[in-house]
Amino acid sequence: MEPILKVENLVKHFPVKGGGKRVVHAVDGISIQIKRGLTLGLVGESGCGKSTLARTIIRIYPPSSGHIYLDGQNIASLSQRQLKPIRKKIQMIFQDPFASLNARMTVKDIIAEPLRAHRIGTPQEQGERVFEMLAKVGLERAHANRYAHEFSGGQRQRIGIARSLILHPELIICDEPISALDVSIQAQVVNMLKNFQEELSLTYLFIAHDLSMVRYVSDEVGVMYLGKLVELAGCDEIYKNPQHPYTQGLIRSAPASSPALARMKKSVPIEGDIPSPISPPPGCRFHTRCRYAQGICKAEEPPLEDQGTGHFTACHFLGR
Ligand code: SF4
Repeated sequence: MEPILKVENLVKHFPVKGGGKRVVHAVDGISIQIKRGLTLGLVGESGCGKSTLARTIIRIYPPSSGHIYLDGQNIASLSQRQLKPIRKKIQMIFQDPFASLNARMTVKDIIAEPLRAHRIGTPQEQGERVFEMLAKVGLERAHANRYAHEFSGGQRQRIGIARSLILHPELIICDEPISALDVSIQAQVVNMLKNFQEELSLTYLFIAHDLSMVRYVSDEVGVMYLGKLVELAGCDEIYKNPQHPYTQGLIRSAPASSPALARMKKSVPIEGDIPSPISPPPGCRFHTRCRYAQGICKAEEPPLEDQGTGHFTACHFLGR
């Protein structure tokens, strides 16, 4: 199966205001791919670069370097005008549904906005599509003329989902779509996304720091740390057999399964804060927090290598 999305060595640096040549290393050479109809979950602490990666893939931010292939077409260097038809294929659901919905527009206008931007249908046809979408996400026709502030967080996220689906996209980037919602609502929204995936053959890049939800929705899971991918594997594999000390710390229920990690305890807490992405540590970026760090970790960056079964890990003490 050909991947619908293939990202190769993507880099996104932001200049530091008044910092001369210094940059924020938000995304530093990420390569991922997602097969059509599947979900790649992406996890990591706040500040690891996962949201910047999402926004760079969808070209809200221009990439500093690297390639982004959507259906085989490299969209990394397309102009905004060239990107317009591509935007029908790839949509985004944002973390904060309140901030992402225009407070001065009615729900009807918010959901119909992508249709207008792409000049699809008459106003009447657009209105009918909005009603269809409202029904699909469990809202009522009567909601169409209200404003975002009149809704609960869960309902606002449903409005955001309706807007993201109205152009029949193929790939949806879900940037922490449930983090701002009450726990009781999170499962409803995730179930809805799963149902839409099946019904509409959608592909998802699902970003979260909630590992349990990522497990529930993902076919594959990638773990990011300070702008780098440190582990990538099938969903069951990564939860049953996490290899990287950072992933183990995140999951906190990882049995030590390889001889090299036999000394690692079942639960490995991650201590300290994530270092500044303006001056990331040399070598393995995790070495300042890794209890297993040795000399080589500070000097050499471990490559992300296949441990033999499609399970990729970036650690000097694995797979050797
Ligand atoms: Fe820890 Fe060294 Fe492995 Fe990095 S390379 S995760 S510092 S043991």
